[in-house]
Amino acid sequence: MTDSAAPAGAVFDARYARQIVLKGFGASAQSRLLTSRVLIVGAGGLGSPAAMYLAAAGVGQITLVDHDVVDETNLHRQLLYGTPDIGRSKIEAAAERLRTINPGVQVIAHEMKLSAQNAEALVRDHNVVLDATDNFPTRYALNDACLSHGVPLVYGSVARFEGQVSVFAAPDGPCYRCLFPEAPAPGTVPTCAEEGVLGVVPGIVGMLQATEVIKLLAQIGTPLIGELLLLDLLTHDQQRITISRRPDCAACRTQVRARNSSASSGPSPSASRSMNDVQHLSAIEVAALLASDTPPVLLDVREPWEFDTAHVAGSTLVPLNTLPSAISALNPQQSYAVLCHHGMRSEMAANWLAQQGFVSLINVAGGIDAWSRTVDPSVPRY
Ligand SMILES: [Zn+2]
Repeated sequence: MTDSAAPAGAVFDARYARQIVLKGFGASAQSRLLTSRVLIVGAGGLGSPAAMYLAAAGVGQITLVDHDVVDETNLHRQLLYGTPDIGRSKIEAAAERLRTINPGVQVIAHEMKLSAQNAEALVRDHNVVLDATDNFPTRYALNDACLSHGVPLVYGSVARFEGQVSVFAAPDGPCYRCLFPEAPAPGTVPTCAEEGVLGVVPGIVGMLQATEVIKLLAQIGTPLIGELLLLDLLTHDQQRITISRRPDCAACRTQVRARNSSASSGPSPSASRSMNDVQHLSAIEVAALLASDTPPVLLDVREPWEFDTAHVAGSTLVPLNTLPSAISALNPQQSYAVLCHHGMRSEMAANWLAQQGFVSLINVAGGIDAWSRTVDPSVPRY
């Protein structure tokens, strides 16, 4: 990096001195941040650290969208708010806090719910969007709007002690629908309220998202485009899984890319093999297949402690974060039914295996929890 892009005679606040002095960052990167506009959707567990660090870093404009009020159950992880804020509009309290952190940042606060109808208008005119939402309709609406305006989407999600981060909708990169073509059925993925989350987990994931935003805006480092970072904070196991752009992705096909694809950046050889569809079958349907003459291999992608707690007899344990290293022991021509706790990790695993050229993949909808409820009550629920 050079500082050649810095405006002549630029004068910066002393608050940015420690990052301007960084080799590979400098005045040019700081200038890019100061002239950037970032949309953050969700002012909760992920949005709190992301917004605070981006404001402190000197992002010129932060647009914040949320429609909730501060609840006491938010306070262990949503550090934008304090005890006196309980009952206040989140967006109002958040904007106040961000302006305190850095009065030089223009904070635009929208108290509203993002939807497929208003997403395009919100995304337009921003350089990067940060997905700090906690529901699938908003996530898909953001993905589609970012694709149609060529705006990169920094994705993050958390559950219990685990987190995921990626960058979608970047020029030539995959989108969220390339990884998860359709939203899971309502009620099949538990919420934070249902299964809990350790407060520091969204803190760390939100800061990783802020890091990706800064890298994209400042044009430094290598953003997680085409890669999904999986974190297990109980063990500090980390995995980066390659995600290819699906040639059959309905959302990518209709997008307007910000930049034209170069000849060398078309779909990778692995992406060209990713036409195989993943079937989503109920636990009852999978049980019937397992009892047939040509049963699939039941692949359990949960953690070992979960397997020890409850598993389906005859299943093979390959925890999700070990899948890339275990793939050589699997047969791409074999049919696999992939199982996890509630059906989300297994969907990710099945989609990823499809991208690697596996020909027959089934996601067990609802996971082992549905198995226990509908097939075999002797399998413990947890
Ligand atoms: Zn896509």
